Amino acid sequence: MKIQSIRGMNDLLPDQSTTWQYLERVIADVLARYGYSEIRFPILEQTELFKRSIGEVTDIVEKEMYTFEDRNGDSLTLRPEGTASCVRACNQNGLLHNQIQRLWYNGPMFRHERPQKGRLRQFHQVGVEAFGLNGPDIDAELLLLTARLWKALKIDHAVTLQINSLGTAADRAAYRAALVDFLSARQDQLDEDSQRRLHSNPMRILDSKNTHTQALLNDAPSLHDFIDSESREHFEQLRSVLDAAGVSYQVNSRLVRGLDYYSKTVFEWVTDSLGAQGTVCAGGRYDGLVEQLGGKPCPGVGFAMGLERLVLLLDELGVVPDSVAQIIDVYLVAVGAADAQALVLGETLRSDCPNIRFQTHCGAGSFKSQMKKADKSGASIALILGEDEAQNNTVGIKFLREDRPQETVDQSELGQLLNTLIKD
Ligand code: ATP
Ligand code: MG
Repeated sequence: MKIQSIRGMNDLLPDQSTTWQYLERVIADVLARYGYSEIRFPILEQTELFKRSIGEVTDIVEKEMYTFEDRNGDSLTLRPEGTASCVRACNQNGLLHNQIQRLWYNGPMFRHERPQKGRLRQFHQVGVEAFGLNGPDIDAELLLLTARLWKALKIDHAVTLQINSLGTAADRAAYRAALVDFLSARQDQLDEDSQRRLHSNPMRILDSKNTHTQALLNDAPSLHDFIDSESREHFEQLRSVLDAAGVSYQVNSRLVRGLDYYSKTVFEWVTDSLGAQGTVCAGGRYDGLVEQLGGKPCPGVGFAMGLERLVLLLDELGVVPDSVAQIIDVYLVAVGAADAQALVLGETLRSDCPNIRFQTHCGAGSFKSQMKKADKSGASIALILGEDEAQNNTVGIKFLREDRPQETVDQSELGQLLNTLIKD
């Protein structure tokens, strides 16, 4: 029997990797334009890191983490998200002491969930975190940055922004008590999941997909009435920047997010185009987290976007430029004794034309079969090196995507000609 991959952990095949590279390139470009720096950290961390940051009674820590003992008997966990690791790395390397940091990372995350469209066990996130800034201006910057990213990807018409404020930990505790009071009195009307959460993580009930539970919640106390004046002011200022910048949003008072560390601002970008897994980007402010993980108090705010879901959305909307799938520009065909010369010519051309992608035919074969490969390669030009051409130091140029007669040119002029024919 052939050994198979682990369920929910997919291979990324060459026909999809071009879209991924495109997506990652656009994201990296937008982040660079806002002055964010990349940070990389390990995929494995001590289990304690995630327990302490994400929270013991969250879905992630309770049932989704890949946790195991290594050979020394230490409990390790494959990272289920990036914020905790990012804060750990910043604390450990002294990046947060009296400094502002604007950071991003990209990499695989691991959660033992039921695999389905847009939900995997190894998935990929680009995360963005900003440290050292208290005010709503940085919250707004992150949202403006994401709005610009959706425009660059041509998916802005398909995503909407939801925002909420969670206030402080104390506000949430007061709200939590009021919510538990309200829901306890109606316990028998709650769905099974929500009954279970009533005492472990009642605010997650607000997220319930159960329509009956949602209807019940219409009369529940609203978090908005519990948040303190500072959080309220912070939220109002954030809203006014979004208004001024023309970024539309909905205030969703039931948006609480699944991790314990958030405070004040939380947000999600959601789409209707992907079915149930509609959140493509989510985040919020986490002012207590750095201290909770052993650092000096330092405010933070950030988000993560799910790359699988973004790729699904790009494909669904058909907005990936055709050129993205094209991986070479010029295909070198060589017949007969010219074979070895083609490789040498390829090297010369790569030196002369650094912006052009060449593929040299390898493995011999008839002229006809080589031309077929040239066509299939997606190249726009085939260079033909037959015995005559080799002898005369010329090359045949065949235009594969244009109705244009074949030309013969001198090899010494070829590089310059290609540079004018193919402009990025
Ligand atoms: P969901 O409600 O969909 O489970 P979440 O609240 O658990 O999402 P976060 O922890 O905030 O998600 O992660 C941020 C983003 O990462 C999500 O909005 C989503 O795009 C992506 N994501 C999270 N879990 C998965 C997964 N198992 N497979 C694919 N993408 C995921
Ligand atoms: Mg989840």
